[in-house]
Amino acid sequence: MRELTSGASGKVASWLELSAGALAANVATFRALEEEGGGARALGAVLKGNAYGHGLGPLLPLVHPLVDILYLITPEDALAVRALEEARGLPRKQVLVLGAMDAEEAVALARAGVEAVVGDGSWRELAAELRRAKLGQPLRVHVHVDTGLGREGFTPGQIANGALDFLRESADVLRVVGVLSHFSNTEDVTEQTYAESQVDVFEGGLAALRGSVPVEEPLQRHMAASAATLVLPRARYDALRVGISLYGLWPSTETRLSARLVLGRVPELRPVLSWRSPSQVVKWLPAGSYVGYGCTYRCPEATRVAVLPVGYFDGYPRLLSGKAHVLVNGKRCPVLGRVMMNHIIVDVTRATHDERPVTVTLLGQDGDEHLPVESLAEWAQTIHYEVVTRLGGHLKRVVVP
Ligand SMILES: *Cc1c(COP(=O)(O)O)cnc(C)c1O
Repeated sequence: MRELTSGASGKVASWLELSAGALAANVATFRALEEEGGGARALGAVLKGNAYGHGLGPLLPLVHPLVDILYLITPEDALAVRALEEARGLPRKQVLVLGAMDAEEAVALARAGVEAVVGDGSWRELAAELRRAKLGQPLRVHVHVDTGLGREGFTPGQIANGALDFLRESADVLRVVGVLSHFSNTEDVTEQTYAESQVDVFEGGLAALRGSVPVEEPLQRHMAASAATLVLPRARYDALRVGISLYGLWPSTETRLSARLVLGRVPELRPVLSWRSPSQVVKWLPAGSYVGYGCTYRCPEATRVAVLPVGYFDGYPRLLSGKAHVLVNGKRCPVLGRVMMNHIIVDVTRATHDERPVTVTLLGQDGDEHLPVESLAEWAQTIHYEVVTRLGGHLKRVVVP
């Protein structure tokens, strides 16, 4: 019987390259920052969103030995970390699930020694269910303080008014080992006034927590994602939750500018990801030919095109239509017409000399040219976080040096 290939990558398919060297260099950059700060803080890697689209499967074995903590969004992914550790005989790292879960998942995490975040009132009921499950050991939890994002967490006022009092009666099943918060406005600005006020609120939340609930000291306090780690040293506390920048990407241009001001230099970040594709066909289209759906592009002259097996199904945004370019032999080649579900067509008239197959760079370095994900994001009117996390899970990932 023939296998279904829909959704899987065939042989003539694009692939993602993950640079192990770039990842290690980025980790080293953050380790050096920690040392400058004078503290031996724990460095954590945020691996949500399929490791920011890079691929949790291939990335996890690379990042696991380099960091102290692994942050996932789902219990399922967290348990995959434990499975990898067991399969490879690796030491158990601290693993924290940032996202929501049900009772069954909470039980599984407690048994696997994975930690969870208490971020809303549903935990009152969860605690009761955990007690009925007769856990051998309590689930280790971190309390989320809402300091002004309005997403997860309890405000200091709510904590002071008893919102977490159920933890007092649940000490047998929920042990508070950490406290965290998340910034809402560090990437979009160069002045951290709102973030500074969030740190102040966090301090209030911390005091309220210690005043109302039994906690394990020293509590692990953590607040800084990539941007705050880079530009707000005061927010580094005990652990760093670094996401985007571990993959070698700046959270924003503003963060890069601020880093120059705050640190006096710009730390080096190296993008981990490249995206390449073989051509499906390279051929001439006569002058006057239309290209792609909607006849939005017409060749003003005879044009050598490469048809690529890449489309919006793979995560190449349709909004790139008529705007993007790719790299072939170190030269920029415009994307002609619309991005289709499984295809794009690019102009390679000046990038090649014949109709032999070409290797195309959709993202990354080719010769002297670099095509950063920030460009794709700008053309697609979004942020690079979205572009990378939408890269198809079906794309083949290859680890390179
Ligand atoms: C996504 C996320 C991070 C990491 O953010 P980056 O900007 O990618 O570094 C850290 N903490 C929480 C709670 C998050 O949701």
